[in-house]
Amino acid sequence: MKELALHTLRCRPGTAVFREGEPGDCAYLIERGRVEITAELGGEKRVLGSLGPGQVLGELAVIDNTVRSATATATEETELTVVRREQLQMRLDAAEPVLRLLLKVILERFRHERRFLRGNGADGDPGGDPSPPAGREGDEGALGKIKLESELWRALSQEELELYYQPIFDLARRSLIGFEALLRWNHPERRLVLPNEFIGVAEESALIVPIGRWALLESCRRLREFQEAMDATAERRTPLLMCVNVSGRQVADPGFVRDLATIVQQTGVDPQRLCLEITEGVLIDYPSALSWIEQCRAIGATVALDDFGTGYSSLSYLSRFPIDKLKIDRSFVQAVPDDPKSLAIVRAVTQLAHGIGLQVVAEGIEASEQLSALTGMSCEYGEGHLFSPAVGFDQALRLLGQPLL
Ligand code: C2E
Ligand code: CA
Ligand code: CA
Repeated sequence: MKELALHTLRCRPGTAVFREGEPGDCAYLIERGRVEITAELGGEKRVLGSLGPGQVLGELAVIDNTVRSATATATEETELTVVRREQLQMRLDAAEPVLRLLLKVILERFRHERRFLRGNGADGDPGGDPSPPAGREGDEGALGKIKLESELWRALSQEELELYYQPIFDLARRSLIGFEALLRWNHPERRLVLPNEFIGVAEESALIVPIGRWALLESCRRLREFQEAMDATAERRTPLLMCVNVSGRQVADPGFVRDLATIVQQTGVDPQRLCLEITEGVLIDYPSALSWIEQCRAIGATVALDDFGTGYSSLSYLSRFPIDKLKIDRSFVQAVPDDPKSLAIVRAVTQLAHGIGLQVVAEGIEASEQLSALTGMSCEYGEGHLFSPAVGFDQALRLLGQPLL
């Protein structure tokens, strides 16, 4: 066997590439020639197969981190490319967890069947039950994801999803201007589930698209109802705003803009009272974001940049994209006014936003000192537990007529 370079092997006919029982630290890709795979079964050498150019051998022991379960012998002049353990491991580590789990299950089943066959043939061991062994520790994350994803499909079709409404206030006037619609899941066994437990899984799969479509429709329907209730009680008609969170996958969905137009038309809401919230990450990761924003704004909706300060906080994005509002993340707001750095950041961001014609919404206002500091900076709007947490529709309706604080 001749090693041409670190990654290439040339074998003469009859040379073993590897032997059964040896540690397996690399796999091989056959460039030319043929390799026969044999194993000892019941004291007898059995041929399991013959592999040719383009085929891979030895991968099982590498992925499984076990010894070779068979012997591989070149049957003619053969050239092999060596695939090192790290090369495979790197790809396995980077693979999507559910795919990785599926690969593991397939390998486990394959290994188990092989053991079963050997048991029957080799040493008289009947081999036991051919059913594959149960999952191991560490698979729970991936299994949990698949389960959650299936449950979410059901949640959508069984109407287990609900929107809660976080009031948004005009800080100077101390009056309610609208709501941010936030998803909640009325899980049949697990009480009310918050979005941080399921939005990630919905975003990883395509599920966020139908869920987001539902949230958009539901929030527009509710906006009509809020507005009608407001008009009936208030002396002066104050148009309310509805803010809806939109994920990157929805921005990339070619049907989004059409759905938005249909929903606006069906529900009869004034599109200018609809604000779509996206994060900076969406602007960076989705090349279609600019045209998406332009199309949504052409329909009449406004667009806000959510969680500002947590991502790249790239100032160039603020001028490059036609955005209407900036939402300062609550991690900065909550450090105001005690932490001088956060105070300086919030002040600078607010001034900058105003300088380029954006309105500012402060997220997560919990204390009156935060409210005073933000009002002092002429920050226009705010939301947070100081005013109210996100509440169900009926409770939100009751907030319409109430004075703030
Ligand atoms: P977000 O867009 O930053 O929404 C604000 C989150 O902060 C909400 O959490 C809200 O309940 C919480 N919050 C508001 N004021 C305060 C406060 O004063 N103190 C504290 N500690 N928290 C406050 P929630 O409802 O759990 O939502 C979490 C995230 O889930 C949202 O963050 C948003 O990114 C995502 N999300 C929620 N609904 C949707 C949806 O319909 N579509 C999409 N794509 N994402 C959604
Ligand atoms: Ca938001
Ligand atoms: Ca936010």
